[in-house]
Amino acid sequence: MTDKMLKFVEVNQQAPNKRKVDNRIDDFKEIYDEFIHDKAKEQSSRCSQCGVPFCQVHCPLHNNIPDWLKLATEGRLKEASDLAHSTNNMPEICGRICPQDRLCEGNCVIEQSGHGTVTIGSIEKYITDTAWEKGWIKPIKVTKEINQSVGIIGAGPAGLACAEELRKSGYKVTIYDRYDRPGGLLIYGIPNFKLEKFVVERRTNLLKKSGVIFKQNNEVGKNISLKNLKEKHDALLIATGVYKPREIEIPGQNLKNIFPAMEFLTASNRKGLGETVKNFDNGILNAENKNVVVIGGGDTAMDCVRTAVRQNAKSVKCLYRRDKENMPGSTREVNNAEEEGVEFIWLSNPKKFIGSEKISSVLVERMKLKHADSSGRKMPTPISNSNFEIKADLVIKALGFDPEDLPKLFNDPSLSVSKWGTIKINLKSMETNIPGIFAAGDIVRGASLVVWAIRDGREASIEIQKYLKKKRINKVKAA
Ligand SMILES: Cc1cc2nc3c(=O)[nH]c(=O)nc-3n(C[C@H](O)[C@H](O)[C@H](O)COP(=O)(O)OP(=O)(O)OC[C@H]3O[C@@H](n4cnc5c(N)ncnc54)[C@H](O)[C@@H]3O)c2cc1C
Ligand code: SF4
Repeated sequence: MTDKMLKFVEVNQQAPNKRKVDNRIDDFKEIYDEFIHDKAKEQSSRCSQCGVPFCQVHCPLHNNIPDWLKLATEGRLKEASDLAHSTNNMPEICGRICPQDRLCEGNCVIEQSGHGTVTIGSIEKYITDTAWEKGWIKPIKVTKEINQSVGIIGAGPAGLACAEELRKSGYKVTIYDRYDRPGGLLIYGIPNFKLEKFVVERRTNLLKKSGVIFKQNNEVGKNISLKNLKEKHDALLIATGVYKPREIEIPGQNLKNIFPAMEFLTASNRKGLGETVKNFDNGILNAENKNVVVIGGGDTAMDCVRTAVRQNAKSVKCLYRRDKENMPGSTREVNNAEEEGVEFIWLSNPKKFIGSEKISSVLVERMKLKHADSSGRKMPTPISNSNFEIKADLVIKALGFDPEDLPKLFNDPSLSVSKWGTIKINLKSMETNIPGIFAAGDIVRGASLVVWAIRDGREASIEIQKYLKKKRINKVKAA
């Protein structure tokens, strides 16, 4: 390793609250670029090109990983980028935020043999970021326009991937989204330190240049009705994600300074996008100098604790009712948070929020794990007389998300949903019970991952095209 590379490792491995990155930012970037270039080549050449590419099998998009690693090793980055784009609409985003330890990298044969995985995600990011820098990624040039239009509800990864695929085939596409910016959770959920917002914006701008129409600040069911959209378009896709936060019903829950995760993360992301955010600027949603308590053990909880660290919180504690081994969040994320100084209080459950008007502490009880439930995870049960109190100026609830009541929201009780509120689809055609209306992403799966949303969006596009083709043929037959 060169001195510069070693310096990069030294700076990057420190916890952000200990790092002195600000005054070295240019230096940092320069070191980073050089490091990444050498590292990408070195890493991609470690791929053994094994006969059974488990990495590819375990990537939800079945990316042709061994082949683009080979191309990267040979310095053929344009071809590597083209190959990566043939199965994925946003490889640089997946490269940044996929939980690779559970997907491709966790199944790398070299990892399995105890020699450390090929860092597939960072190479995927490197290949695609290079393609953007070199100007190889261009807007879609439609060769033959098709006179049929598709309305997509939701500009998250599922909606965006579907829109891109449909546009490539020449369909007219309009995306309706209730937020002011496209991107869904890529913009307002996932924090900037994991996914820089310009990376999302350059993708959505590319789609705009490709002829996809974005109608932001358009909430279906409020500003525009589902019925109206059905009349306007030849087919519809519902890709609205899941946003209803799971609640915790304990005494003191109405005290001030207790927030759902998305409120905290959205404020932070909006600040990162350069906006004035009243409740952040007045300090309410800013963790600086506060004792922060995050409740939950999933990836959203990890994003909250790590955001609080970056906002210079006085202390950050995470309460989770199971232990580390039984946590739903990615181990890599938990390790990162621990390195950054987050204190995990495993096997703990909040019993009461304490304070007068504002939260001042949380009463917590210890838990123990009993036998596994039907999902295979061990069941937590309270230990009697084990209560203790921890200081809290800001509490963030990150207990997961459920779907909103879409039939009610869309004012269409005929839309069929499961007992969990997710939209029911025909798993083969991805069509809902209403002909011509398809659904994809979290609103079908429940809270999941970006890479699965992309896969669903791509598959929905294929099924929508089949449906529209049939519609065209029937029209000709009827004429
Ligand atoms: C805090 C957080 C961190 C995460 N981190 C990761 C991660 O690191 N890696 C990973 O792979 N996954 C992560 N996820 C999960 C991932 O973001 C989601 O699985 C993915 O975004 C789902 O995509 P989607 O397109 O189905 O929905 P979304 O991304 O939620 O997009 C849905 C869109 O629909 C719009 N919408 C909703 N209702 C309406 C309506 N009535 N009218 C118009 N528009 C509407 C919304 O405004 C939104 O733009 C994270 C999730 C959260 C909450
Ligand atoms: S899309 Fe995700 S799972 Fe697939 S290769 Fe990339 S990082 Fe791995």
